Amino acid sequence: MKFLVLLVVLVVAYCVMRRRDPPAPTIRPTPPLPHQPMARCAVCDMHVPASEAIVRADAAYCCADHLRQATTGR
Ligand SMILES: [Zn+2]
Repeated sequence: MKFLVLLVVLVVAYCVMRRRDPPAPTIRPTPPLPHQPMARCAVCDMHVPASEAIVRADAAYCCADHLRQATTGR
C-alpha cells in the first residue's frame, strides 16, 4: 500500500512539474529584405545600398573618406 501511495505522489509531482515548464519559444523566420539597388564605390569597389551611397559627379562612394580621397587625390 505504501508503494502505491508513493507512486501516486510521484505521478502527481511529475504532472505538476510538466505544467510549470514554459512552452518552447517558437522561432519565426525573419521576412526577407526588399531588393534595393546597389552602388559600387569608385575608390574601394565595395557595394553599398544606393540609398546610403554618396554620389558626386556620376560616381558613388561608400563613405565621406572615400569621397574625399577621390576629390583630393589622397
Ligand atoms: Zn569605398
